[in-house]
Amino acid sequence: MLSSESGIETPCRPTWAEVNLGNLQSNYLEMRRHLTGGARLMAILKANAYGHGAIECGRALAAVGADWFGVALPEEGHELRAAGLGGEIFCVGGFWQGQGARLIADRITPAIFRRDAAAELNERAREAGRVVEYHLKVDTGMGRLGVTSDEVGEFARYLQTLGNLRLTGVLTHFADADGREREFTDIQIGRYQRVIDELTELGFEIRWRHLANSAGIHAYPGAHGTLARAGATLYGLVRDVLAPGLVVPALRPVMSLHSRIVMLKRVPAGTPLGYGGTFRTGRESVIATLPIGYADGVRRSLSNRGRVLVRGREVPIVGRVSMDLTIVDVTDLPAVAIGDEVVLLGEQGTRRILAEDLAIDAETISYEVVTGISARVPRRYSYSQG
Ligand SMILES: *Cc1c(COP(=O)(O)O)cnc(C)c1O
Repeated sequence: MLSSESGIETPCRPTWAEVNLGNLQSNYLEMRRHLTGGARLMAILKANAYGHGAIECGRALAAVGADWFGVALPEEGHELRAAGLGGEIFCVGGFWQGQGARLIADRITPAIFRRDAAAELNERAREAGRVVEYHLKVDTGMGRLGVTSDEVGEFARYLQTLGNLRLTGVLTHFADADGREREFTDIQIGRYQRVIDELTELGFEIRWRHLANSAGIHAYPGAHGTLARAGATLYGLVRDVLAPGLVVPALRPVMSLHSRIVMLKRVPAGTPLGYGGTFRTGRESVIATLPIGYADGVRRSLSNRGRVLVRGREVPIVGRVSMDLTIVDVTDLPAVAIGDEVVLLGEQGTRRILAEDLAIDAETISYEVVTGISARVPRRYSYSQG
């Protein structure tokens, strides 16, 4: 097995992820079509683009016109700038003490929600002889980061004293836009609107008004503001991301996960398999070992309950998933052979396993499935559509 990640062919373990950048581009354009009132789309690239590779995804999105990118940490923004990504980079999580100067140098726009961060940014901006733009993050009901909506007036009067900063945007984040009930999100939208009114009265001009995540874009067209932030849907995650009961946009999965059978053995009935012998064969069985484990992102909770695709058929994970290896029961595949490709996430023949399916088996959400595919798994990029 060869890897061509660096352009140099080096032999490596036959475990890899494929990232279809054509599908990513198609998802971006699809989500953009859903926006109302001329709102712009921010492509969220945090957490290595949800495990898909932030630099490659950023470049592919820029190539189809993306000009707003979102990260969670300044470090993620610096990585993108170092790779030459242009456009606006917005840091939804703000920044930590001491990070202000580099943020300014790299033209990364931070979310601000604490006085000390605003003061640091203002000081560094003054030293750089610049006026630096930022967005105010308002907590309208998530209960996490953000100035509580009824404290915004007081906070804003403090912001007005900072001469080297310019407030150009206000964001909030929905807690339940994927839920069946609309009441809580409507309350959040109402609080957000009152914040905008209050800031306008204080003399601020808020160009970038952003509330919606993927689920919000889908379910609350009235809350698209002038900018909307999509993550999960760009990567083709749908079923556990969007609210039920609405027309589902035409999105395509972007990442798949592959390995190959490295060991095959025939064992008698009653053979314990893996750590703790938690699976015992009920019949004479053919057992295949795969060189992929929980350190690669195959969640240990899939032990004795996950499935993989081999020769176009679904076969069960047996025994405990271990750090580097996983065992599957291939007794029902007569022609199975060492080297057969195994799909853990994605399509093979007529069958497919979506991140949403894996999430159900692993008792998590599709976001955690894709972000969990670790750095040890090489990514192979392609532009094929479909
Ligand atoms: C991660 C994140 C998003 C993207 O959410 P999705 O559900 O993946 O679309 C949007 N806004 C903020 C503030 C986030 O942290």
